[in-house]
Amino acid sequence: MLLNTINEVRAEVKKWRAEGLKVGLVPTMGALHEGHLSLIKRAKTECDKVVVSVFVNPIQFGPSEDFDKYPRTLDEDMKLCDGEGVDIVFAPTPKEMYGDCRLSNDCLTYVCPPFFFVDKLCGKSRVGHFDGVCTVVMKLFNIVQPDCAFFGQKDAQQVIIIKKMVRDLNIPVEVIQCPIVRENSGLALSSRNKYLSDEGKKDALVLSQILNNIKACYKKGVTDIEALKETAYSYLTEKHDLEYLEIYNKNTLEEEMDANDNSIALIACKVEGVRLIDNIYFSEV
Ligand code: AMP
Repeated sequence: MLLNTINEVRAEVKKWRAEGLKVGLVPTMGALHEGHLSLIKRAKTECDKVVVSVFVNPIQFGPSEDFDKYPRTLDEDMKLCDGEGVDIVFAPTPKEMYGDCRLSNDCLTYVCPPFFFVDKLCGKSRVGHFDGVCTVVMKLFNIVQPDCAFFGQKDAQQVIIIKKMVRDLNIPVEVIQCPIVRENSGLALSSRNKYLSDEGKKDALVLSQILNNIKACYKKGVTDIEALKETAYSYLTEKHDLEYLEIYNKNTLEEEMDANDNSIALIACKVEGVRLIDNIYFSEV
């Protein structure tokens, strides 16, 4: 069922609650692919009812980012959601979510994560991005009031920040993190892959190759973080505009003396002007 208004969603969820049903929320920006579907499938196994939000959130895009050209494929998204047995697709307009607020920076109450978590990785180049993410996720939590919400490890910094927000603000939602879905080639699925040419997609494989190689070197016994990061350079060509490559603690995003089983390597790199991100855990446990 496609719903566009907050009131309609609230009315429907209220009926489910009265029946004691467990509600799951999968927040997305649409242009759904198998990565999103993996979150939806997981939500279907853990919850009685599943809401998928499809909303290209204007306040998480910077002025020079791709808000206007971000792919919008609601008809196709609806078909995919129907195929997975999604109960509600919530696709509000920006006006439904923000009224006139988004037109004026000083009329919206924002949820801003701690500086420590945003002064690095994606937050460093995308100033204000995580304020926009936390604000929209908080609003979606308040609208849907789910028991569980599903996020991908693909956006590792995002899921850590959301978990922190939930803890800090005592939000009664269980955040469930799902693994990264990749093409057979290793390329992490992303709605932004649609912007890449065939050649660009080949060049983009470097991200996962760098991460896999770093992990392989760690498994062979290299724990020096600079030495691990240096292994990336042989993969990079003039077609790659590396934004960051970092190795941090996977739970706190803190730097550590040496790589260990709790490490995560994270990369952001532009290919054909398209900003791609990926990451890998050094150990699955
Ligand atoms: P987006 O539509 O890009 O905002 O993503 C919505 C959700 O899907 C986020 O929680 C993402 O982390 C997750 N997601 C995106 N790509 C993947 C992927 N390749 N594998 C798993 N989850 C993903």
